[in-house]
Amino acid sequence: MMGLMQQQPLLISRLIDFAARFHGDTEIVSRRVEGDRHRTTWAQVQRRSMRLARGLDAWGLQRGDRVGTLAWNGYRHLELYYGVSGSGRVLHTVNPRLHSDQIAWIINHAGDKALAFDMTFAPIIRSIAASCPQVAHWVALCDEGALPADLVQAVPGLLSYEAWLDGQGDAAYAWPILDENEASSLCYTSGTTGNPKGVLYSHRSTLLHAAAGALPDVMCLAAADSVLPVVPMFHVNAWGSPYAAAMVGCKLVMPGPALDGASLFELMDDEGVTLSAGVPTVWLGLLASMREHGRRPSALQRVLIGGSAAPPAMIEAFQKDFDVEVRHAWGMTELSPLGTSAAFKFKHAQMDAAQRLQVQTAQGRALFGVDLRVVDARGAELPWDGRSVGELEVRGPWVLSDYYESGLPNPLHDGWFPTGDVVSIDADGYMRIVDRSKDVIKSGGEWISSIDIENVAMAHPAVAMAACVAVPHPKWDERPLLVVVRKPGAEVQARELLAFYEGKVAKWWIPDDVMFVESIPLGATGKILKTRLREQLLGPAAG
Ligand code: AMP
Repeated sequence: MMGLMQQQPLLISRLIDFAARFHGDTEIVSRRVEGDRHRTTWAQVQRRSMRLARGLDAWGLQRGDRVGTLAWNGYRHLELYYGVSGSGRVLHTVNPRLHSDQIAWIINHAGDKALAFDMTFAPIIRSIAASCPQVAHWVALCDEGALPADLVQAVPGLLSYEAWLDGQGDAAYAWPILDENEASSLCYTSGTTGNPKGVLYSHRSTLLHAAAGALPDVMCLAAADSVLPVVPMFHVNAWGSPYAAAMVGCKLVMPGPALDGASLFELMDDEGVTLSAGVPTVWLGLLASMREHGRRPSALQRVLIGGSAAPPAMIEAFQKDFDVEVRHAWGMTELSPLGTSAAFKFKHAQMDAAQRLQVQTAQGRALFGVDLRVVDARGAELPWDGRSVGELEVRGPWVLSDYYESGLPNPLHDGWFPTGDVVSIDADGYMRIVDRSKDVIKSGGEWISSIDIENVAMAHPAVAMAACVAVPHPKWDERPLLVVVRKPGAEVQARELLAFYEGKVAKWWIPDDVMFVESIPLGATGKILKTRLREQLLGPAAG
């Protein structure tokens, strides 16, 4: 017998309609490329995303056509999120931190028909426009008067976003009723090996993921929150926060290009930010700024840390020094991206501080909707004993079923997606990452976790950033080398740092040497780029 409930497809347009109807005057604050702070509301975002949809109709763009963006977190990007997907086109967010050849490759592979970009990225557009012949419409996210003449010359037909929207009028727009399984957005993996691969999200996967991400054990989002996603809207949809924010109707604060600690502190403090989300490297800057002020931003309650392992010293600094709760989460582009979160269970309330920190340093347990398993090299499932280590595989309604036109064999293994992460899962279901399979150090037939080695170094007061890579060794195959950036003005030598490991890890895990450097290369998503670091230290073949 079938249920007797209404059938309504889960569509991205419903999110913006809901936010505009029930939270219409709630603010969206953006720090703009122009340098000022801009204020709008959910109702205005809906109105302008409808104008945008009308503009796409006028261009003759079809359902499923891709519209690319090269943009920071800001209200115009948010309008593109809703106007493009809401009207049945596919929003293709491109990561501007990639090399311009790779950006052109991605735009061409996706077959983008239109591309909207922040003025910061005008030099990229100038260099790639001629090599992206299928892009028929180029839109600069600025006022008409801000279009530089030389750019207009270099990019034929270039429009200003504001002039284009102004031309669309304000008549009501009826969002199309789509199949909820239609594609809504496209994001390419960072492509550290080979060409990037496209992950094509659907309306349904996006809404289910947003609902799960808003839950108390993940972002714990409510209408009373003010949320600042530091994680960029050009990388896995800012972890779904622009959708989850509309779903709960909270205030959204967008940092634009100003991601340094001082700028983030100021914006959070002024705008009553309660929750923020980002990769560990951005928190180093914010923590330094908090120490300088001797306080946290006035309303900040919690931060979501993911994308790379959150070092225990960072979790402690937030919680002990500033009373800001840390939520450590794991995910990947192929998972929309949220998969696990290290929130406590009821029984953990009895534990002492050290044991609770231990729970939080794990990557966490599955969100409802995502299933996890660990398999050995033959694909056999391993027990959840917290010790057996193998590759993590996942499945669920917001996990990819195949890459977008990759020409590669389907990546699934018995319906599960192999993540490439080497992990254990404990009896409570908490997953802990040992390493990426390509970063783990294989010493004498045993594995050393580069993450564990880095976490110890990060706890040393003189260390600003640490990365551990494998170097070839005649006897042990590989041995760990620690690469360190010292804090400004701090003094520490290799011998002292290596002594710091004693009693904290097994003796044979202690790195063979420490190399002090000025900076460690970061990839396009703010994570340490181990491939580049290995190349720099050991030559091109080592990448
Ligand atoms: P991306 O698809 O670029 O977001 O990268 C996904 C990868 O980032 C995962 O497969 C992990 O290797 C890594 N990652 C994400 N979150 C965490 C975390 N909390 N701890 C350790 N590694 C993480």
